[in-house]
Amino acid sequence: MMISPPPRSNGSRTLIYHTFPHNCPKRFSVSSYPLKLALTHTDAGSAARAGIFETDHGAVETPIFMPVGTRAAVKALRSRDLHDLGAQIILGNTYHLFLRPGNEILRNAGGLHRFMGWDGPILTDSGGFQVFSLQELRKMTEEGVEFQSHIDGTRHRFTAENVVDTQRAIGSDIAMVLDECPPALSSYDYHRDSMERSMRWARRAWEHHVRTPMPYGHSQALFGIVQGGTFADLRARSTELLMETGFDGYAIGGLAVGEPTETMYDVVSMVAPLLPPDQPRYLMGVGTPQNLLECIARGIDMFDCVMPTRNARNGSVFTWSGKVNLRNASLRDDWDPLDADCDCETCRNYSRGYIRHLFNVDEITGLVLATIHNVRFYLALMERAREEIRAGRYSGWMRETIERMQAEVPKS
Ligand SMILES: [Zn+2]
Repeated sequence: MMISPPPRSNGSRTLIYHTFPHNCPKRFSVSSYPLKLALTHTDAGSAARAGIFETDHGAVETPIFMPVGTRAAVKALRSRDLHDLGAQIILGNTYHLFLRPGNEILRNAGGLHRFMGWDGPILTDSGGFQVFSLQELRKMTEEGVEFQSHIDGTRHRFTAENVVDTQRAIGSDIAMVLDECPPALSSYDYHRDSMERSMRWARRAWEHHVRTPMPYGHSQALFGIVQGGTFADLRARSTELLMETGFDGYAIGGLAVGEPTETMYDVVSMVAPLLPPDQPRYLMGVGTPQNLLECIARGIDMFDCVMPTRNARNGSVFTWSGKVNLRNASLRDDWDPLDADCDCETCRNYSRGYIRHLFNVDEITGLVLATIHNVRFYLALMERAREEIRAGRYSGWMRETIERMQAEVPKS
């Protein structure tokens, strides 16, 4: 028997004023969810689209990349740096924030925005991906998943409902439902059973979401997550079940977990057109600059990935002409910027030779400068993609850009 979806929790809003740590008064706009994506341009040669959606902490232009702030910080950056780099929305990880500092501290702090001094939009994942990565440390039931903290071994349980509660305590602008992300090589039967369970969790999450208040006076959207591995029928069924409930936006999960890149593109090409055109589509945990451009061409609006920040700390930076390894000895006497076409603080002020030196002697500043550049590179890539979509040139520009990035620089 089909259960009709519960009433949505939108309605009248009041204006709320907050003062943020840097004493800048912030006025929340009055917007009524469900969150809608206003499409401004669509590309003639692909499924790429440019648009904008509103949250109570500001508007987000799409396509967009969300820097990952796992534990209430984008590693090596301050919230002010994120603003300066042009970040419009950032991502927080529910699993990590739930363990430390925990829901009570987050509530006492007034939510994650205040806790970390970031007044822009925040999206939180549900923690499912991290819990299901724990392998030996978890046990799954219809109710949810039990797991042991990777920090101290304490036992915890995530359910469809309490993950919504934790994201309410965090106070993110966009929350995600709990889902299982099965390993890519799991059997069809495993993927089917897992997907169906995740869809039951999604329905329970939505019902709990509309029943519970946001403690901080702003709205929170809830996104469903399409699962089903690389099986077209399971992906289609998962999409159908989520849309019966009717979420504020839709993510495609369970990709970039070891399947070939072409397979990932095929799944995105298949799922994206099934989703509502006027709501955001978010591809979780993907990926390289090339992956982002290819998936924009397939109709994706939102991305997150640890790659720019993690690679930066490992001395690997992205440029418009390919990746640069900062530990490469050939950079010792190289006084060019990391990327002559980049407008970031690092590229405007420092040379490859200097940053290579900082990595060579393990100076923290090296990690900071490389992170600033990589995050700016990803954000600038999205800005340029939006411009090209608006100008009707996306497909040709994408092909040229990907070709240029195939190179590994510097050339000897
Ligand atoms: Zn730069």
